[in-house]
Amino acid sequence: MSLIVVGSVAFDAIETPFGKTDKIVGGAASYIGLAASYFAKSTKLIAVVGDDFPKEDIENFESHGIDTEGLQIKEGEKSFFWSGKYHMNMNTRDTVTTELNVLENFDPIIPESYQDCQFLMLGNLSPQVQKQAIERLVNRPKLIVMDTMNFWMDIALDELKEAMSMVDILTINDEEARQLSGEYSLVKAAKKIQAMGPTYLAIKKGEHGALLFNHNSVFFAPALPLEDVFDPTGAGDAFAGGFIGYLAKTRDISFDNMKRAVIFGSAMASFTVEKFGTERLVNLTQKEIDERVQEFIDLVQFDIALIEDTI
Ligand code: AMP
Repeated sequence: MSLIVVGSVAFDAIETPFGKTDKIVGGAASYIGLAASYFAKSTKLIAVVGDDFPKEDIENFESHGIDTEGLQIKEGEKSFFWSGKYHMNMNTRDTVTTELNVLENFDPIIPESYQDCQFLMLGNLSPQVQKQAIERLVNRPKLIVMDTMNFWMDIALDELKEAMSMVDILTINDEEARQLSGEYSLVKAAKKIQAMGPTYLAIKKGEHGALLFNHNSVFFAPALPLEDVFDPTGAGDAFAGGFIGYLAKTRDISFDNMKRAVIFGSAMASFTVEKFGTERLVNLTQKEIDERVQEFIDLVQFDIALIEDTI
């Protein structure tokens, strides 16, 4: 079932305690689209780049079955550029540079062939553009998932709240959930954020896993304990891509299936952090994904009898 992914396609420069990159391909929609492409066979991209963006990288999206008709290329303009630095604690990072460039005036045009998509993933981007993307779809998709970050909470909170009120699921990290709600407790934060619109809330907690809230219950998925975490950039986006990709593939948006989708999302995030940028995400096999999901199952499965039953 087809899926539209809206978000940044960018150049990133990343520094971690283990190394440093010059400009490499990044952007929320790149990670989301690539992760989703292993599940949803019809993933359609809406994004904008400058004429400095390499053709080979666009071809690389296409070789993953990603439709790039909605990827605008602006002649004479520069692609979005973001740089970040991680310290020894890889759960937090500093944004060093955000150059919006082509994103500053991004007008998300929806190609005719994208209409009637059932799943919409709004990756990290200006909330104004996220809202426009929803409004420009003739029929509301069956499921709209939205990701955002503190950058937009700082500079466009009202627009962000408007966009949030139009979606089904919001995915953010724990720090952002606290900032958005003004609550330290993630349970209280989830209640406040759900009152702003989304029925479901996925809170990403880096190496501490992810929580999925609906109104009455909460599901927790751990992150896989990995020997080496090389570069956490894009982990949240790969999570979102695996999550919505799995839902689009299975066409089932029940809470039980969302729990499975959280595990597939967590598996895609765990691959992403093993190498710089999208390097690991572009070369996965179905077998590797299956084995990784099995590791998640083994990690949390245990047999236990309640004390009362053992007496
Ligand atoms: P994540 O590590 O999952 O939060 O995502 C990192 C990606 O988000 C990088 O590849 C960046 O290019 C992209 N990014 C960072 N800041 C922004 C922003 N303000 N708007 C859109 N994309 C962004």
